[in-house]
Amino acid sequence: MQQDEVWQAVLGEIEVTLSHGNFVTWFKNTRLVKREDGEIVVGVTNPFIKQTLEKKYGDLIVKTLRKQGVKVEQVEYKTVSMPKVPDEQVASTTQIPQLVTASGSSVKFASAGTTAGLRQSLNERYTFDNFVVGDGNDLAFAACQAVVTQPGTKYNPLYLYGGVGIGKTHLIQAVGNALQSRHPDAKILYIATEQFVREFVQALRDRTASNFANFYRSADVLIVDDVQFLAGKDKIQEEFFHTFNTLHQANKQLIMSSDKPPSQIDNLEDRLKSRFAGGMSIDMQVPDFETRCAIIQTKNEVNQSELEPEVVEYLASNIKTNIRELEGALNQLLAWCEVRGLTPTAAIAANLLQINKNRPKHLSAKQIIERTARHFQIPLEDIVGPKRDKDIVVPRQVAMYILHEELHLSYPKIAYELGRKDHTTAMHSVRKITKELQVDAALRSSLAEIKEYLYV
Ligand code: ADP
Ligand code: MG
Repeated sequence: MQQDEVWQAVLGEIEVTLSHGNFVTWFKNTRLVKREDGEIVVGVTNPFIKQTLEKKYGDLIVKTLRKQGVKVEQVEYKTVSMPKVPDEQVASTTQIPQLVTASGSSVKFASAGTTAGLRQSLNERYTFDNFVVGDGNDLAFAACQAVVTQPGTKYNPLYLYGGVGIGKTHLIQAVGNALQSRHPDAKILYIATEQFVREFVQALRDRTASNFANFYRSADVLIVDDVQFLAGKDKIQEEFFHTFNTLHQANKQLIMSSDKPPSQIDNLEDRLKSRFAGGMSIDMQVPDFETRCAIIQTKNEVNQSELEPEVVEYLASNIKTNIRELEGALNQLLAWCEVRGLTPTAAIAANLLQINKNRPKHLSAKQIIERTARHFQIPLEDIVGPKRDKDIVVPRQVAMYILHEELHLSYPKIAYELGRKDHTTAMHSVRKITKELQVDAALRSSLAEIKEYLYV
């Protein structure tokens, strides 16, 4: 058999043993570059794939090669450049600029001018430091770090996909934050797709579409969260396609997240699918049990007392698919125990998880605001009204903080829910409460109490 045929046969076998996402990410662009006296060299497109094949799939590859009757003594993985598959949109006239450079090249960042202004921005609580790396998210983490060292060159676009609550937003924002601290003048934009859509619709209505386009096309780094929400929105897809191209051609870094691989987003134009898939796509998995335990411990660090291992293990083994839920359960447990002066145990955790099963999954902003007003014994119309007395302002700030923490609402949305026009009010409130919680025990217990009652 020809080298190619052998490798195709190997890939065929491997494909049926792996998830589609894993296969596409790690094997699709591999080829056999050498087969000689038991020495096999597999060509891959980048160092992460190399590393993963070596570490994770090495045995599988050797086994499958042998099954195909290939003599194998040693398999080496080598980064090689692959012939580019022509892109249906550009191929006729120009080649796509080759962005994967061998090493070392750096990207020049244009000066920022005005930054994100009123728009949604990066949340500084998402950093690499507080992201726990383990099985399931290690490759995404590594790729994100690589983007920080060489933005716009390798892995462009970087596309992370996977289920809800597994850390996609955390990681892509961590890239943004890390880049922003390395390049304070760079214009780094983070936007959730829903927000992008809303702004675009508004811009069309206000006849400011060209401002909108210029704003996003002048980014140095554009991070777009949950691109699956572009599905079925033709005009926005068209706009996004041009934004994408403008940035990509200027070697500006694009980072995207989604709940599925590009090819599986229904009602997304093919040209966007091919753009999204044209860099590095990584299938993020739910972190394994040990990683989930480590995440709980990290999240608990803000709390002064350590958790019993059995509590950590109980949570990690009962909440398996969603880290946001895991975090929620931990916070709820801590709040419950803090109010009662109890030490958290697995039994209490079990009880609470049982209660959770019976409560509605989604709290509304209104419920949170009402609960906060009731706790501080002030009328609802005051907390959302114009009064600026201290005994109204503090509860309002606390409500903003909870909306931020529990519902992950954007600052403009938080401001809106509390009847404020300016999103910076929400931002300052959240910051202020975050700070005060560290020193003010009474505030901590107030918050714990409000949170506890939110869930019963
Ligand atoms: P997604 O965008 O995939 O739905 P998020 O990034 O919003 O998920 O993550 C949900 C929550 O879980 C966030 O609070 C995030 O900080 C946390 N989280 C997820 N993975 C990790 C991790 N590996 N280490 C620390 N926190 C994590
Ligand atoms: Mg997200």
